[in-house]
Amino acid sequence: QLKETVYLDKLAVAGQMAAAIAHEVRNPMTTIRGMIQFLGSTTSDPKLKEHSPLLIEELDRTNKIITDYLSMVKPDEPKLERISLENVLIDVVSLTAPYGAINNVEVTTSKIGSYQVCIDEQKLKQGLINIIKNGIEAIEENGTIHVYQYKLTKRNITIAIEDNGKGMTETELEQIGLPFYTTKAKGTGLGMMVTYKLIQDMGGKLRYESELNEGTRVLLTLPLYTKSNPLPEEVIE
Ligand code: ADP
Ligand code: MG
Repeated sequence: QLKETVYLDKLAVAGQMAAAIAHEVRNPMTTIRGMIQFLGSTTSDPKLKEHSPLLIEELDRTNKIITDYLSMVKPDEPKLERISLENVLIDVVSLTAPYGAINNVEVTTSKIGSYQVCIDEQKLKQGLINIIKNGIEAIEENGTIHVYQYKLTKRNITIAIEDNGKGMTETELEQIGLPFYTTKAKGTGLGMMVTYKLIQDMGGKLRYESELNEGTRVLLTLPLYTKSNPLPEEVIE
């Protein structure tokens, strides 16, 4: 019992240190990024002009790795609020549509009833974006990601995020969400681990169904806001 407490304390310290370092590293990175962007757009040097987008891309990738690690070691407490799920999905689809478009993938959503859920909006969005991005990246030439209402019960709503990408084998399916599990050259293998945690923290569930060379369906179940299942007392404002 005592040993475990000491270990958890150390883990918390490690998390705080990681957060502090990430914060300190990000500030100069932002300056460097701005400078490269400025130089790249004003320079007459063709080499600098040609290579500056790659520099920026690599900086953004570094930043993403820091973000993924941070949400792993230092997850914030979820702020549960009563939110329209439909609005969240519309937002997330329009946020990911440009990334889809450059990869020849159409991201669509069909009408979802006006249901309210009790969730942390930012965290839900982050999780959905991770799921949709994976779907886009699983499509090799062109395809679609479809987000729709899959099932409704008295207490829960289930949303499907479906892609017609390359799918996964059973072995691959089992490994999704494990830290550092990635099949991508530039992947971090942290996206789904973080997403599982985010969804779990707000009382949701995530399930994967996949068929090799056919596609993948991600099922996200969230607790509905109802009179018998209201907001926890402390978050009523
Ligand atoms: P990353 O995207 O950095 O690889 P993730 O944790 O987001 O890390 O995903 C882990 C792995 O799970 C991916 O590399 C990929 O192999 C697999 N995966 C996730 N989503 C899908 C999907 N929709 N279709 C096929 N494979 C997927
Ligand atoms: Mg990913």
